[in-house]
Amino acid sequence: MSVLDRFGRRLGTLRISVTDRCNLRCQYCMPEREYAWLPKPDILRFEELTRLARAFVSLGVKKLRLTGGEPLLRANLAELIAQLKALPGLEEIALTTNGVLLADQAPELVKAGLGRITVSLDTLKEERFFQLTRRSGLAEVERGLVAAAAQPGLGPLKIDTVLLRGVNEDELLDLVEYAGRVPAEIRFIEYMDVGGATTWRAEDVVTRAEILERLSARYGRIEPIPADDGAPAERFRLPGGQTLGIIASVTQPFCKTCDRARLTADGTWYLCLYAERGHDLRALIRGGASDEELLEFIARAWSLRDDRGAEARVGLADRAPLVTLRALRSDPRLEMHSRGG
Ligand code: SAM
Ligand code: SF4
Ligand code: SF4
Repeated sequence: MSVLDRFGRRLGTLRISVTDRCNLRCQYCMPEREYAWLPKPDILRFEELTRLARAFVSLGVKKLRLTGGEPLLRANLAELIAQLKALPGLEEIALTTNGVLLADQAPELVKAGLGRITVSLDTLKEERFFQLTRRSGLAEVERGLVAAAAQPGLGPLKIDTVLLRGVNEDELLDLVEYAGRVPAEIRFIEYMDVGGATTWRAEDVVTRAEILERLSARYGRIEPIPADDGAPAERFRLPGGQTLGIIASVTQPFCKTCDRARLTADGTWYLCLYAERGHDLRALIRGGASDEELLEFIARAWSLRDDRGAEARVGLADRAPLVTLRALRSDPRLEMHSRGG
């Protein structure tokens, strides 16, 4: 079964944020000194997450991505993966992590059924890592990548990088070469004006066009690889054969093909990364809704979806951070680290 929204977009992918906590403080995601956290009793138990995931999968979701905050901070994550793996119809479980805790956990996660890993990494310089994340840990992330690359049965490894003007843009080529050695496919994500990015400025975005220009200057012809699904990354091949991706969420958003929904750790379901309000699925399941009622609710809400948050912001004059600090303090679910990116 599949459900379509108002623009004919299928519900195909669910990103599940398993915790809003994080062990890093990336400048573009958590730049503030203090944060309001989701109340502990509201955090869904694995059985609750699995029940919700089952409903989404029976409505056509094929891919689940576990994220956060930092998903590897959630205790016993392998148990959740094993529960999700048993869902009939599900094709893939992926993980997005900052990689700090990955080296130790990778084997058990893959054994439990994890199929793909994406590691976020923005610099190869220890001092800069600290400047960017306000924590140390670059060596651990690199160890995590090596461990993930060595896991048999895992799909191709990915590295996600956000380039910030004047901060790490000079490492573009070094990061491409590092990824080639891991080996992993690197994807450059344009710095987004999402909730949480309170210091976002349009001039700090290193755009898709600039990235392509710098790659061409170094490597010559960059060959576009035709897209095979609604994935957000445009892929390219360098003359030597190495592939990479660009996710141009700011300058060339891809809302037209967006099949992604997001679930926060407290069970709030968002139909768009930029959505101000979500649907409280925790209240539904803790309030005793039957499976049919749950399915009906999700299918109806998706069929009414008309979100195209990033596209709606292209060309805005004086584009500024999406959400004010005050609003973030009163509703932590507006934060990128709650929505899972
Ligand atoms: N903590 C994990 C990590 O960093 O991979 C998972 C959660 S994090 C919110 C998911 C992704 O969102 C990361 O790849 C991160 O780089 C990206 N992200 C966070 N804030 C962003 C922003 N303002 N613009 C672009 N990407 C952002
Ligand atoms: Fe960085 Fe991910 Fe943590 Fe955000 S959630 S601060 S991107 S590690
Ligand atoms: Fe999808 Fe919303 Fe992102 Fe557009 S802005 S790609 S609709 S999540």
